[in-house]
Amino acid sequence: MFLIVITALLVLGNQHNQISLPECRYDDLPATHATYDAWQSTLLDTIYSLSVDYVPIDLTPLSDIGLPGNHFVRRLVVDDLVALLEAAKVAGSPLEVQSAYRSYQYQANTFDYWVSLEGEESALRSSARAGHSEHQLGTTIDFRAAGGPAPWDVPDWSMTPEGSWLTNNSWRFGFVMSYNQGQEKETCYMYEPWHYRYLGRDVAKQFIESNQSLRSWLWEERDVQ
Ligand SMILES: [Zn+2]
Repeated sequence: MFLIVITALLVLGNQHNQISLPECRYDDLPATHATYDAWQSTLLDTIYSLSVDYVPIDLTPLSDIGLPGNHFVRRLVVDDLVALLEAAKVAGSPLEVQSAYRSYQYQANTFDYWVSLEGEESALRSSARAGHSEHQLGTTIDFRAAGGPAPWDVPDWSMTPEGSWLTNNSWRFGFVMSYNQGQEKETCYMYEPWHYRYLGRDVAKQFIESNQSLRSWLWEERDVQ
């Protein structure tokens, strides 16, 4: 019996190893778990992408809840976003939305803009090619300090009071940082302390406790492969 268990564990272990997280490279494979219901499990990186047709039907204008700017998120994000913004304000670190949902076409235009400004090599590190951005999910938000500059114009936004509060508290409201410091080789993108993806409170807690990068965690725990 003992041997059978050991053998089974070895077989399972080998199966798992055969499909380890792929090295960062540029490709255009369709993302798995790419239905609107699977928003917590959709892995987007430099390899996997969404189609031009991926436009969540429940996109909600943030002006509906009195927020400035012309931003949209999926309806399922709204309550926890409001709670997060309120908690940040109470803590003395008020936040605003810098950017939220971005369509496939918007990403195409943005990427072309960065290529024209910085060249393709630099653009690839900081900007997603069309279909590869988590912003197309409608569950991902770039934050900035209320009334402040764009967070990428601040040397390390996570060191500001607002960025620091968000780093420490976002998960309590279901939001997690996708591209952590020192994990560029694994996440395939440079450190972005302003870029947060909504996973819901329970899943965000599980993710934080894993101490992994989001890309690695999605690959392993959400059975993306
Ligand atoms: Zn972002």
